[in-house]
Amino acid sequence: MTRQTDLEAIAARYGTPVYVYDLDEVAAARRELFAALPEEFELFYALKANPHPELVRALREGEGRACRPEISSTGELAAALAAGFEGADVLYTGPGKTLGELREAIGAGVRLFSTDSVTDVQHVGAVARELGATAQVLLRVNSASASATTSIRMTGTPSQFGFDSEVLPSVMPELRAVQGIELAGFHFFPLSNARDEESLVGEFQHTIALAAQLSRELELPLRFLDIGGGFTVPYAVPGGRGRYPKLREELAAALDLHFPNWRTEGPQPACESGRFLIGASGTLLAGVSNVKVSRGRKFVIVDAGINTFGGMSGLGRLLPVAVQLEVDGETESASLVGPLCTPGDVLGREITLPPLEAGDLVAIPNAGAYGPTASLLMFLGRPAPVEVVVRGGEVVSASRIEHVRSYEGTLQ
Ligand SMILES: *Cc1c(COP(=O)(O)O)cnc(C)c1O
Repeated sequence: MTRQTDLEAIAARYGTPVYVYDLDEVAAARRELFAALPEEFELFYALKANPHPELVRALREGEGRACRPEISSTGELAAALAAGFEGADVLYTGPGKTLGELREAIGAGVRLFSTDSVTDVQHVGAVARELGATAQVLLRVNSASASATTSIRMTGTPSQFGFDSEVLPSVMPELRAVQGIELAGFHFFPLSNARDEESLVGEFQHTIALAAQLSRELELPLRFLDIGGGFTVPYAVPGGRGRYPKLREELAAALDLHFPNWRTEGPQPACESGRFLIGASGTLLAGVSNVKVSRGRKFVIVDAGINTFGGMSGLGRLLPVAVQLEVDGETESASLVGPLCTPGDVLGREITLPPLEAGDLVAIPNAGAYGPTASLLMFLGRPAPVEVVVRGGEVVSASRIEHVRSYEGTLQ
């Protein structure tokens, strides 16, 4: 965590709202997560959580093993390449890859794709052939069953994601007929933000067992097995990253059980994470613009609203935004709201705050994941927040996403 005095200096220098990302914290999260996995595992970073090129770069460079980028658009591809990754490092996922996007990705050297339907595989194969390449295809599996209860469930129900596991046997002939690809393995992503280590381990055990069973039933040897993620970190409330002291052994045991020769013959296992790797690196600094009382309730109005933080959470795919601050000393109950002209612009309803007045600074912790790019950046036309990256207490970059309207003639 960046020190309070440094945060104040950054707010004074760049104004608010401003995000501060600490690369030392990104490095710590990366070390922790690799240490929690058997050493054979690969680890994908889902750029969806935050595509800032300096953060992505910090997951590749420096000490220890590098993450690989998991992307779902050509914009994220550009961010991964800008961070120094090569196309060959990338896993491209998502149910709606267009032929144009596939041309750009395969042209840039991307070879590993997670696929969600027969036509998706056919599109990957068609573009790979067109470009004289062979793509490695993972079949994303929408499992008919799931293990423990979890916070965000992505499987077992009708979904645009993945092949329904029960229909895989019937579509295998069509998949095997696709030219330009090799069926390399499975991709699962049944769970995000697991409650605790036990539910995470339970889900992974279930996934590994299912992968082995499907591999046998479909007579599809697996070279690659991406079992998903679910690693947790608080979202905009104080606290630390999840701890996984048993995970390493449990994963190795599950693989030993279901794929006895996995270390020598494969499958190559992989996990993925967005929030765990960067959530704790970020602090959002907002300035208090005004404080008012309405019918006995206090509202602290800050210059960061759902245009800056947490806008996506209204869609129910992220945790709801319910900001909490570190407070010691005097407290009061008030709602922390943004400046936008919508009653939905609430960061925390009736939360515990220190006494605040216009001109004060508020520091929202654990805001590194699902920040600016998961917010309603364009809504109500305010500038995007400045994003400052620090390492060892020193500012290494400051930038802002700009929105500009381009007119015909300059449209790309
Ligand atoms: C969103 C997403 C992730 C990252 O989820 P976190 O909860 O941020 O770790 C990983 N994999 C896939 C396929 C995703 O869609």
